[in-house]
Amino acid sequence: MSRAAFATIHLASLRHNLQRVRELGGGAKVMAVVKADGYGHGLERVARALASADAFGVAAIADGLRLRAAGFRQRIVVLSGPDEAADLAELRRLDLDAVIHHDSQVAWLEADRDPRPIRAWLKIESGMHRLGFAPARAAEMYARLRALASIRSDITLMTHFAASDEFDKQLTAAQIAVFDAAVSDLPGEHSLANSAAVLGWPAARGQWLRTGGLLYGLSVVDGKTGEDFGFQPAMTLSSKLIAVNDVRKGEHIGYAATWQCPEDMRIGVAAIGYGDGYPRSAASGTPVLVNGQRAAIVGRVSMDLITIDLRNVPNAQVGDEVVLWGRDLPVEEIATHAGTISYDLTCGMTKRVLFVEDDSAV
Ligand SMILES: *Cc1c(COP(=O)(O)O)cnc(C)c1O
Repeated sequence: MSRAAFATIHLASLRHNLQRVRELGGGAKVMAVVKADGYGHGLERVARALASADAFGVAAIADGLRLRAAGFRQRIVVLSGPDEAADLAELRRLDLDAVIHHDSQVAWLEADRDPRPIRAWLKIESGMHRLGFAPARAAEMYARLRALASIRSDITLMTHFAASDEFDKQLTAAQIAVFDAAVSDLPGEHSLANSAAVLGWPAARGQWLRTGGLLYGLSVVDGKTGEDFGFQPAMTLSSKLIAVNDVRKGEHIGYAATWQCPEDMRIGVAAIGYGDGYPRSAASGTPVLVNGQRAAIVGRVSMDLITIDLRNVPNAQVGDEVVLWGRDLPVEEIATHAGTISYDLTCGMTKRVLFVEDDSAV
């Protein structure tokens, strides 16, 4: 096998993480958010491991279609609802719940003559200004949906947080207050919390948690890893050394010669690069594990290869395993070095990476 980049998906950790969300959720139902191919872990694979979730959340009807085609009968919520009038027929055919957040969607529903009702989640904007109806319109929009034969009566009320990962930020407290006031007179279950809110904002539990990141063991809380909150990484990305070279003091490593050897030393070359989804922005100093030992990337990440300072790993040789992130190297740490968040990294794996499943417990 010529390429050796593997994403190992830890199924037991996915199950553990769902259990941990339930522990923190105090009895709330859990929507397992599996958009973007299960945050890059593989949609059907993740759904199988998380089959005991109370619902799945997807961003696209096409993902709902994939889950139905794979035999999943759970509730599936399309988090941005129909994008055009023709989507209503697809939502019905696939029995998908629709988030309703915009007047254009209500117009399609009001013009729709198909009597088979769709299950709706009414999204209220509470301070993020992305999707949702203004809070002052919550009662009006609820009444308009209730008046439609094409909408089921059990409408769920939801909102989404802009900064719930900042536990001391007043924006989230304000969003909770805006949402609560907007829906206080309306019947229906409530859904506010994403992963960070499950950790930091117990007042936002409602009846439905909508968790993605935590199920994959990922944290977006600054300076914290998923493991700090009792979660386990669900992906280990690994490759191997395909060259080990002696390089003299003063020589430069890689494209643009950005790193200079401070002494005579060994440089390892691993078969992974931005063509696999490893971030090109990972700077010199980004950690990797070579045979389980910490070492650091030096020089630019290239399309197919990275170069590694092997001074910490004197016995390293061609064929040795290189872990880029995962069980023993938090992806959050790599994200910090690359100037992004953990979600961005796991979502970025390309088709060249081989996915394998592992069911071992930690
Ligand atoms: C992606 C998404 C979530 C899940 O967010 P996490 O931070 O991964 O838990 C929840 N709700 C909505 C509307 C989303 O788009």
